[in-house]
Amino acid sequence: MERIRRHTVPDQVMRFLDARKRLLAAIDPRARPFGWPRRSGFIQPLVDAQLHAGLARFPQVQVRFGHSVESFVDGDAGVAVTVQPLDDEGRADGAPHVVRTRFLVGCDGGRSPVRNALGLPFDGKSESTRWLVIDIGDDPIGTPNVSLVLDPEFPYVELGLPHGIRRFEFMVPPGTPESTFDDPAQCVRCWPACCRRRGRCG
Ligand SMILES: Cc1cc2nc3c(=O)[nH]c(=O)nc-3n(C[C@H](O)[C@H](O)[C@H](O)COP(=O)(O)OP(=O)(O)OC[C@H]3O[C@@H](n4cnc5c(N)ncnc54)[C@H](O)[C@@H]3O)c2cc1C
Repeated sequence: MERIRRHTVPDQVMRFLDARKRLLAAIDPRARPFGWPRRSGFIQPLVDAQLHAGLARFPQVQVRFGHSVESFVDGDAGVAVTVQPLDDEGRADGAPHVVRTRFLVGCDGGRSPVRNALGLPFDGKSESTRWLVIDIGDDPIGTPNVSLVLDPEFPYVELGLPHGIRRFEFMVPPGTPESTFDDPAQCVRCWPACCRRRGRCG
């Protein structure tokens, strides 16, 4: 816990603001029902790295990066999982092999092939919008919390993360060509569709 905690912002408040930065709602849990902050911001790769290092305490656990679960057969004696080794480019690298196990856990992400193969539903739906995520170091703002600015024309998120990182997430207006996303000459406020609608910049 101590190793993970230094990569977190405990009790991170999430505020929902309108376009004029007026507060609409806030998520600000102070309770510690499990003994730890209820809501923490964190930098996921650093926390994941600590969890991965922690697995060294369990010699029976093998981690296999670069292996893809292709299919599985769920039988009375357990599950037979066909696994394909991949190269660095994600292409098949050698022959697939079968891993036999008592349980297969479908913790394989939002599009979970395991859950889909089992026909398990996943409630809710997400709008298909694209976002540009920018992390900057040496955070010049410094507040530890999260603001979601619900400007219908230009929604964005900004949050403070550990180690002096500030993250901005800008919703990309529909129709904006992807080639302009990471063009330093392109002011985010000047994304063509956005400015055309506003008739002005900013
Ligand atoms: C840009 C971005 C920033 C985010 N930042 C944060 C943050 O700061 N804090 C936060 O709490 N959340 C954050 N999130 C959300 C968070 O990443 C997800 O909610 C979380 O990772 C979901 O975890 P998961 O284990 O369910 O799935 P995932 O993290 O998606 O893990 C699924 C794993 O299954 C593997 N997998 C999939 N299919 C197969 C297959 N066929 N064979 C083998 N392996 C397979 C994938 O490679 C992956 O490793 C962020 C998301 C994004 C996109």
